[in-house]
Amino acid sequence: MIQRITPDKVTPDVLVNSSGRRGHRESRSRGFRGNGRGAFFLGRGNHPYESTRPDHPLFLALADIAAQHGMPIDLHMEAVPQDMPFPRQSGRGQNPETLKENISGLERLLAHNPNARIVWAHAGWDLTGERTVPLMRSLLKKHPNLYMSVKLDESGSRRTWPFGPKGGLKPGWLAMLRDFSDRFVIGSDQFFDEGTERLTLARKFVDALPPEVARVVGSEMPNGSIGLRQRRDDLIGQEEKVTF
Ligand SMILES: [Zn+2]
Repeated sequence: MIQRITPDKVTPDVLVNSSGRRGHRESRSRGFRGNGRGAFFLGRGNHPYESTRPDHPLFLALADIAAQHGMPIDLHMEAVPQDMPFPRQSGRGQNPETLKENISGLERLLAHNPNARIVWAHAGWDLTGERTVPLMRSLLKKHPNLYMSVKLDESGSRRTWPFGPKGGLKPGWLAMLRDFSDRFVIGSDQFFDEGTERLTLARKFVDALPPEVARVVGSEMPNGSIGLRQRRDDLIGQEEKVTF
């Protein structure tokens, strides 16, 4: 895993080994699950805190591999717009006292190879309370190769999850999904050995979408620009905007 190699330990040999056959096969078969700085602190499945920089040299190398093969990168990362104290007292395992800013590193990763499609998972569920609509909108606007995967779970911050007090989508979320419908997909991050509450919430989310947005987010996106069936040729020469 990338976070086990500190960026200053990435030698040319490490890069060659990481970009070899094994790396290709891994990125092709199941995408890469990377954790940016300030990634996981608690949660289900006994997920430990794991951390490294989003612009780690091996992530940059992975972006090149993903672009070469027309494969998306699935990035699971908390939003930390500035250094901050660890947000909760009751985490599992070893957690740090503070979290380091990670959005600038994410932007460097996105800018490194505009043909690498980065799917930032966990839209709608975050533990820092910082993955706000304005933050997501500004990043989507600046980086055409950024996509978002929705995740819904009751354990996340109410400040940033998409549902309002009456159960419908918050106006800011609705506007963002209308403006960037071709950049979102529905995800769940559901573990196989746990309950299916997240799938139930994903259904609720889709049902709350206007039909034209639901069609794009729920069907066209998974089968199209994010989907693994997208031909590499479709991703090149379109000013970084993927069309169907
Ligand atoms: Zn995740």
